Amino acid sequence: MKLVKLIANLGYGSRKQVALMFREGRITDADGEVLYADDKVPHAAIRIDDEPLDPPAGLVLMLHKPTGYTCSTRDPGRVIYDLLPPRFRLRSPLLSPVGRLDRETSGLLLMTDDGQLLHRITSPKTGLAKVYEATLAQDLRGDEAAVFASGTLMLESEKTPLAPAPMVVDGPRQARLTLTEGRYHQVRRMFAAVGNHVDALHRSQVGGLALDGLPEGEWRLLDGVDLDRLF
Ligand code: URA
Repeated sequence: MKLVKLIANLGYGSRKQVALMFREGRITDADGEVLYADDKVPHAAIRIDDEPLDPPAGLVLMLHKPTGYTCSTRDPGRVIYDLLPPRFRLRSPLLSPVGRLDRETSGLLLMTDDGQLLHRITSPKTGLAKVYEATLAQDLRGDEAAVFASGTLMLESEKTPLAPAPMVVDGPRQARLTLTEGRYHQVRRMFAAVGNHVDALHRSQVGGLALDGLPEGEWRLLDGVDLDRLF
C-alpha cells in the first residue's frame, strides 16, 4: 500500500493532509531521514514528528470498560472511543467492538479492525465462553443454576431456548454465569426470567482471556500469545 494511503487510513488525516505532512518533512524513518510519499519502508520504521506510527491494520485490543460508556461511535453521552487515542476512532478499516456490553456493564471488551476475527469470536458456531459476574437485587432463590443449565429457558420474544449456561454462586446476591451466546441484554433478561434483577454486571473473561489487573478505563494491544489464549 502507498504510504499516503497507509498513513491516512490510520487516522492521521485525509490523503491531502498526509501528502502535506510529507512535503513538510514531518514523516521520517527511524534515523530521522525524511521520507517521500513513494518510498518503500516497513511500517515499524516510519516516524511522524519523531513518534512511531500507530499499530497497522489487524489490530486487536482489550479494553477494561467502565460503566457509563456506550459501545457506539454515535451517542450524545460517553462512548468507548473516548477511552482510546483519538486517532483510533478515525481508522480505516474501522475499529469495532467485538459484540457489545450495555452502557451499565463493565469489564472486558475486545475491539478489532479485523472483520474475519470479529466474526470468528462472535459466531455462535465458535461458542466462545464469556464469564459475567452479576450482583443481584434479591437473594438467589436456589433453583437458578438448574434453570440456566437446562437448555430450555425461553426469553420473551425469542424463538429458540437459551443454550445451557453454567452458573456458580459466589454469595447470596452474587453469581458468576458463563454464556456461549450473546443475545440482547442476555444476563439481565435471564435473571429477570427467574424473578430477580441485576444491579451490577461485570464481564471478567472472554474465552481464555481475563483482564489480569488491567485498570478500569485502560486498554492494551493483544498479541499472538493472547489470541492463542482467547480460543
Ligand atoms: N448481558 C447483559 O445483559 N448485558 C451485557 O452487557 C452483556 C450480557
